[in-house]
Amino acid sequence: MDLRSDTVTRPTDDMRAAMAAAEVGDDVYGEDPTVNHLQEHVATLFGREAALFVPSGVMANVVSVCVHTSPGDEVVVERNGHSVAYEDGAPAAVAGVQYLTIEGDRGRLDADRIAAAWRPAGWPYPTTALVSVEETTNRGGGAVYGLDRLRAIRDLLDTRGTRLHLDGARIFNAMVATGVAPADYGSIPTSLNFCLSKGLGAPVGSVIVGDADFVDEARRWRRRLGGAMRQAGVLAAAGLHALEHHVDRLADDHGNARTIAEVLADRVPGSADPDLVDTNIVFVSTGDHLAAAVATAAADDGVLFGPADGSTIRLVTHLDVDAAGAERAAHVIADLLAD
Ligand SMILES: *Cc1c(COP(=O)(O)O)cnc(C)c1O
Repeated sequence: MDLRSDTVTRPTDDMRAAMAAAEVGDDVYGEDPTVNHLQEHVATLFGREAALFVPSGVMANVVSVCVHTSPGDEVVVERNGHSVAYEDGAPAAVAGVQYLTIEGDRGRLDADRIAAAWRPAGWPYPTTALVSVEETTNRGGGAVYGLDRLRAIRDLLDTRGTRLHLDGARIFNAMVATGVAPADYGSIPTSLNFCLSKGLGAPVGSVIVGDADFVDEARRWRRRLGGAMRQAGVLAAAGLHALEHHVDRLADDHGNARTIAEVLADRVPGSADPDLVDTNIVFVSTGDHLAAAVATAAADDGVLFGPADGSTIRLVTHLDVDAAGAERAAHVIADLLAD
């Protein structure tokens, strides 16, 4: 039972069949029909002009930052944002930007917090070129922004000429949880990206979405970073299969995450809160137990997950975790915490 991340999913037999059957060509020449199909499909889905298939979510974020900023600019993110926590300094190393991090609630910013932290205009202050937000929040525990908060942020940024990037690595989880349509999300940010390789279950890939000019520039940055691929249709076919067959079932992952929180809240009061499980990520407080020690002990019982901090563990449900497995994992953890 591997609850470390929804990135651990493996392609299903049907997905592998779709990959094997994919028509391919050289995507650097723009001649891979399956990549083109994926990009057109995604652009239409989000109601935007164009989309670009890239190898990973990190590359999607870095490429987007490179398009939206110049060296020395500032990018605003929530304090625990993926871009500052998990991208090995890429935005600084590659785009030459600095980050202004703001404390949010469960990883979410809002227009008021951003406005309060805004730099004065003019010399010697850096230019705030971009605000980047996550849907759902990774280190915020899968919390959902929703449209209202995002629109308020975009309205604020429009008054300051600053762009909004939506790092929607798990945006399909948010859409399944709330019923919001892709085109409604697509209408708000300057650019957005999402991962095919997380809960959607594809082995590789993310897609960036935006206006045609943005995507043209993003294609150049993808090339500069070595991310232009050749017969990538084999991978795009997995993404198309995922978008067709693996979106609605994300609701099962959310149900399983909630079950884990309910079992733990019941057996070890205070360890988890089902009301804070919006999607497929569960944070569990380990109390007096060291989170890393709980993770090591559970691994001996075949349940894998990681510490989020010294006294919190993080569990992520996905398509290779069924209801019985989720429940068993919760009891294994409860046994360790009750010790
Ligand atoms: C996973 C994740 C990424 C990076 O995706 P990779 O495909 O692992 O590179 C970016 N942003 C957020 C919010 C994520 O959760």
